Amino acid sequence: MEMITYLAKVGELTLKGGNIREFERRLIQNTQLYLESIKSKVTLRAGRMYIDCEPSGCEAVEFALSHLIGITGWAKTRICEKNIDSIKDAVMQEALFAKERGAKTFKIESRRSEKNFPLNSYELSCEAASDICEQDLLKVDVHKPDVTINIELRERCFVYSDTIKGCRGLPVGTGGKGLLLLSGGIDSPVAGYRMMRRGMKVECCYFHAYPYTSDEARKKVEDLAQIISHYGLETHVNIIPFTDVQMKIKKLASEMPEAPDGLKTESYSTLLLRMCMMKTANLLAKQIHSQCIITGESLGQVASQTVENMEVTESCSDFSLLRPLVGMDKEEIVETSKFIGTYETSILPYEDCCVLFSPKHPVIRAKVEVAQELYKAMQVDDLIQEAFEKREVKQFLVRDFVEENYGSK
Ligand code: ATP
Ligand code: MG
Repeated sequence: MEMITYLAKVGELTLKGGNIREFERRLIQNTQLYLESIKSKVTLRAGRMYIDCEPSGCEAVEFALSHLIGITGWAKTRICEKNIDSIKDAVMQEALFAKERGAKTFKIESRRSEKNFPLNSYELSCEAASDICEQDLLKVDVHKPDVTINIELRERCFVYSDTIKGCRGLPVGTGGKGLLLLSGGIDSPVAGYRMMRRGMKVECCYFHAYPYTSDEARKKVEDLAQIISHYGLETHVNIIPFTDVQMKIKKLASEMPEAPDGLKTESYSTLLLRMCMMKTANLLAKQIHSQCIITGESLGQVASQTVENMEVTESCSDFSLLRPLVGMDKEEIVETSKFIGTYETSILPYEDCCVLFSPKHPVIRAKVEVAQELYKAMQVDDLIQEAFEKREVKQFLVRDFVEENYGSK
């Protein structure tokens, strides 16, 4: 059976000195997790990861490589023998293939760790290019070629032209565990992805206020969790029923219309909801041994996201709050959400709970003491405990997704 070899360039973990073995082990393990349902072999040597598979496994491998965190790029290669004739032959195949797709110019880049090969890298590039030039198939352009053909002479010899960008970052599982507050919007899935790229395992929780938020809104969040599990490998989403808590916030505003600072209590309702979410998330984070809580907040993006208001939510958490998007603007966030594939789902029009209960004039620079006093007046802790206990958990495993869509063993 013909075997195909993919080559992936390992990224940042090569900087990790003493820990490098652990990072490498994790990268291999993560890659294998994607590929449980196909026949494949994963090996890692000198900053390169190789995946050998049968042709029927190519789709699964390509899915894995385009979602795997920890590699800077990857390519499908031609393997050839370590002599100049087979190398020239493989390079010619690549050139013909590139020409078919419209390329006019090329360059060759050679790397060799095999030092007893008779030609050095430069000589090898020139020799491999000679036939292409003689036949006038493509023209050399070393600055802006339409195609770069790579020759890597290692324990085997690889020839490839297209390198596809990888997700970079550190392998998931090397950076602890965080609990992501996942809403149906654009920001929080991106926040989760950003932490996954720092090696963090990410679990999710979603506060659902049925029937004020619809089943579609819930489905949307589950779909987002599914998509981010393609990067995070295994994602649980805890769905926490929050209608009673929301009603309690409304009730406070009618029973106690004026807050201690003279503002309308109603203007605090979004913030009070955030505080309740944070309290509940703390219960969950403790239960699942998460080390921090992650949100999709970005400074100044909406009224509730001022530094003062962030301090208020912070005051409700015993866990560190990580806000990976805090300094990013909307355009950058949207760009990432398109790249990871959550954008189209995020912009579906189902309301999230905050919209229906949002005050006309939300407080912009809340004081921690005032917010805490209102929170205490609600006496909501029992309801929060109850909501926490009534949570439902859904699990998304990338290996199931690959098996269903690309599996072949
Ligand atoms: P997003 O695009 O992530 O929805 P947003 O710009 O709409 O964010 P907010 O609605 O102010 O901002 O929410 C700020 C953060 O609070 C969200 O990024 C998310 O982490 C969390 N959050 C908000 N609503 C919910 C919810 N219903 N369930 C879980 N987390 C939520
Ligand atoms: Mg939102």
